[in-house]
Amino acid sequence: MEPHLDRHRRQAPMRWIRDYEGHPAALPIGPNEVDRPYWDGLRIGELRLQRCTGCRAWIWEPRWICPRCHCLDLTWESVEPIGRVYSWTRTWTCFPGAELFDGHTPYVVLLVELPDADATRVLGLEIDAPDCGPLRIGDDVRGVMQSASASTSGWSVLRWERWS
Ligand SMILES: [Zn+2]
Repeated sequence: MEPHLDRHRRQAPMRWIRDYEGHPAALPIGPNEVDRPYWDGLRIGELRLQRCTGCRAWIWEPRWICPRCHCLDLTWESVEPIGRVYSWTRTWTCFPGAELFDGHTPYVVLLVELPDADATRVLGLEIDAPDCGPLRIGDDVRGVMQSASASTSGWSVLRWERWS
């Protein structure tokens, strides 16, 4: 484990859920037969990823089959939502089909690598992005589970915030 991540981990709260009204969800969200454990985890402040019992690969986003070895036996494991920015994009326009974001631009979508899950990459919006200054590849971020609201279809959603 890298020393600076260990330092952050000791200071981190045990629970990652936060009660606030943030950005809406981009699309209709909620569980289906494949991803219910992911959504159930967010509700209690856990980030859960699938893991293949055959080759031990971490998998995100949820699937029926391991993309590496085609094993159908997948489990779910909790991962500490601490990572680094792999890539990002800032959106200034409310695109057709995403009218819920009217009044919520600009927003930043992050692709975050999770060191505790073999650098598996997970997508999510950044919290309060316009006020946080420039974003750099490699910045440390932590996941926050935005509590459920009408604008998130009644489900908690994963957001990211910088913390270093
Ligand atoms: Zn596999």
